[in-house]
Amino acid sequence: MARYIGPVCKVCRREGVKLFLKGERCSTKCVIDKTHGGAALPPGQHAHRRAGKPTEYSKRLREKQKARRLSGVLERQFRRYFKVASGQKGNTGENLLRILETRLDNVVRRLGFAASLAGARQQVLHGHVHVNGRCINIPSYQTKPGDRISLIDRLRGNFYVKRSLEHAVQRGLPTWLELEGNLAEVVKKSSEAGALEGVALAGKVNMWPAREEMSYPVNEQFIVELYSK
Ligand code: SF4
Repeated sequence: MARYIGPVCKVCRREGVKLFLKGERCSTKCVIDKTHGGAALPPGQHAHRRAGKPTEYSKRLREKQKARRLSGVLERQFRRYFKVASGQKGNTGENLLRILETRLDNVVRRLGFAASLAGARQQVLHGHVHVNGRCINIPSYQTKPGDRISLIDRLRGNFYVKRSLEHAVQRGLPTWLELEGNLAEVVKKSSEAGALEGVALAGKVNMWPAREEMSYPVNEQFIVELYSK
C-alpha cells in the first residue's frame, strides 16, 4: 500500500507536462502555467543546462513513468499489472491502461466523488466507498461492468464532494460511467452544499472503458516496448 508522498508539482515538471494531480487547483494555480511561459522545466537548479536530446530509451521510460504517476502506482505494482495485461487477450498496452483506469480510486475520481486521485484514494482508504453495498477500502480494487459505486450517507452534506461533483458534471462523465438516478440533475440545479441531502451518492460502471475515454494521454506502445526488452 505504499505510495508516493513527495511534492507532486515536481513530478509534472519531471515529465514535462501537466498531469493534473491536484484536481481543480491545477487549472487555476499551476506552477507550470506561472513560470517559464508555460514550459515545464525539469526540477533542479541547473535543469535548463541538463536538457538534451532524448534517447529512444528515455522516450519510452518517460511514457511509462507518466502512466505510473498518473495512476499513483509504484514500480513493483506497475510491473505486476503489466504481467497481468500481457497474459490477457488483445492489445497489451490497452489492457494495461484498462486495468489502471478501472481501479476503484480512479473510478471514484472519474465519477466526481473526489477532485483528485489522491482525494479519491483517501475516501477509499477511510472506508467511505461501497461497491455493490460492501465497504471496500482497497484503492487498487478492480471494478467491472455492472458494479455500483456509492459513498456513505455522511458525505451527502460535504462541501468538497458537492464541488467536485459539480466540476465532473460540467466536464461530462465518460460513457462507461454514469451517476445514479437524478444526482447529475440535482448537482446541476443547486449550488447549495446541503442540496445532496436525501439523494444517493452513487454511480455505476456501464461497460469496459474504450481507449479514447481513458484518462491516460500516453503512448502505451512505448510502455510495452520498454518492458519487453
Ligand atoms: Fe501538475 Fe497540478 Fe502541480 Fe500544475 S498544479 S504542476 S498540473 S500537480
